[in-house]
Amino acid sequence: MNLEHYILFWICIIGLCLGSFFNVVILRSLSDESIIFPPSKCPKCGNKLYWWHNIPLLSYAALRGKCYFCKEKISIQYPIIELLTMLSFGVSFLKFGVDWKTLFVIFWLSGFIIMTTTDLKAKLVDCNIAIAIGVTGVLYNFIHTGMDGFVSSILGLTAGAVILEVIARLGYVFAGTRAMGEADTYVAGALGAMFGIQNVLPVLLYGLIASMIFIVPMFLYNQYKNGNKLTCILSVLFILAGLVYCKLWMNYWMMGLLILLGILLSISILKNIKQEENRNYLPYVPALALGALYFIFFSVNF
Ligand SMILES: [Zn+2]
Repeated sequence: MNLEHYILFWICIIGLCLGSFFNVVILRSLSDESIIFPPSKCPKCGNKLYWWHNIPLLSYAALRGKCYFCKEKISIQYPIIELLTMLSFGVSFLKFGVDWKTLFVIFWLSGFIIMTTTDLKAKLVDCNIAIAIGVTGVLYNFIHTGMDGFVSSILGLTAGAVILEVIARLGYVFAGTRAMGEADTYVAGALGAMFGIQNVLPVLLYGLIASMIFIVPMFLYNQYKNGNKLTCILSVLFILAGLVYCKLWMNYWMMGLLILLGILLSISILKNIKQEENRNYLPYVPALALGALYFIFFSVNF
């Protein structure tokens, strides 16, 4: 085992343990959740857990995802967060090596893991985490490129927050309500602070593209849940026809079919909008987090 493997091993172990801790943080911020499993006792039977019930990943595997005493299911969130934190730590080290940059990235990814989970589970985001990411973002840029980095980071923070806030408030014009939550503004500001003014637009754009990964399936799910099966089927057909048209078979017949399906889909969506009561919730914080993730690991500008 050489030194790098040795450090990688311990960073992964620390990631697992911190992931376990993040589960507790997430649990606390969503304290009215019932299905999840507090680290000290089982929520169903109230039995106190043994020490070996709290080992990251291993306990979940050993108990086969069920309470040792009453066999109540343990939320899959536990091993997923532990694994995700471990992976983030390990991959950050492999990418940036023994460097303070690794520490900053690990800190930011940890924050995003917590915010993404609470947003997806309960539409709740602790803005203090975004503020902490923003402050360390400014610090990182100051260490990295001195005064220039500091100024770029502060400008980026302002621009990110302002852009998102403007988009959010446009919601009042079109729908009579904010288009996004307040947390999205804080997170966009944090992204600006991390990547600087010159990268604000690209990283927000990555976030927008990533949001499609969430928005399309959620839209379909909501349509299905509200009993709008026709919209659901038309959407799938429209996406398939679009893919066929772009990738294999670009002719007028296909284009005609695509347009026809598009018109039918639009009519079906417009008909449903009128009767829809609960507005669809779109998780932008996870999307922005994916944008940041992409930028950290795949952009030449970071
Ligand atoms: Zn139990």
